[in-house]
Amino acid sequence: MARKFFIGGNWKCNGTLEEVKKIVSMLNEAEIPSENVVEVVVSPPFVFLPLVESSLRPDFQVAAQNCWVRKGGAFTGEISAEMLVNLGIPCVILGHSERRSLLNESNEFVGDKVAHALSVGLKVIACIGETLQQRESGSTMAVVAAQTKAIADKVSNWANVVLAYEPVWAIGTGKVATPGQAQEVHLELRKWLHDSVGAEVAATTRIIYGGSVNGANCRELAAQPDIDGFLVGGASLKVACLLSLMKRH
Ligand code: PGA
Repeated sequence: MARKFFIGGNWKCNGTLEEVKKIVSMLNEAEIPSENVVEVVVSPPFVFLPLVESSLRPDFQVAAQNCWVRKGGAFTGEISAEMLVNLGIPCVILGHSERRSLLNESNEFVGDKVAHALSVGLKVIACIGETLQQRESGSTMAVVAAQTKAIADKVSNWANVVLAYEPVWAIGTGKVATPGQAQEVHLELRKWLHDSVGAEVAATTRIIYGGSVNGANCRELAAQPDIDGFLVGGASLKVACLLSLMKRH
């Protein structure tokens, strides 16, 4: 079965109520390829989730940018996966490199989060990626394999997982990976999934690329056989840019 192209917009910690309403109304008015061709998910900050979920066009989905590692309780400031389900939010981004580096989220912690989110019925965009130092020292594949293994150790059903390869050096820097660099890692990841998880999971799991993707560089990346979509940060806040990505992939 062909892997449906996936475009995620990660708004990160950006936006006012007015800006969010404006982005949603522009997305709602836009003409884009049918949902059979591309799956679109936008990820606003937590506080805007109910608004976006209730006002966004039905052919687009909404994702949270994080959730707690287990059931809710005395965890001040956290949002549980169960709460997202209760609000009708279908999807969550986990393991983003900003959380791994700024909030010290370990591979194991991310693996536990992915497993818990899946167990309550959420879809997960699980992020992995190496730093510049790791790339330059030749350990890119070892790093992303270890990050993926920590997820694979806890997860048996990959049907609701999208794996997002986001080299840390490409995030928010304007320094996009070349199509060749991205394809090389995506192919290795697919081989890793094949050998470590199974042929079916390797063939069906979408591996998307993130890191300075925009309307100008997306086409060449999307043409790579193992790039199944994008996780877009900065450019996803500019609706025109996000739309051009959907149309040009
Ligand atoms: P960027 O962010 O597109 O702004 O580089 C990507 C991401 O962090 O998901």
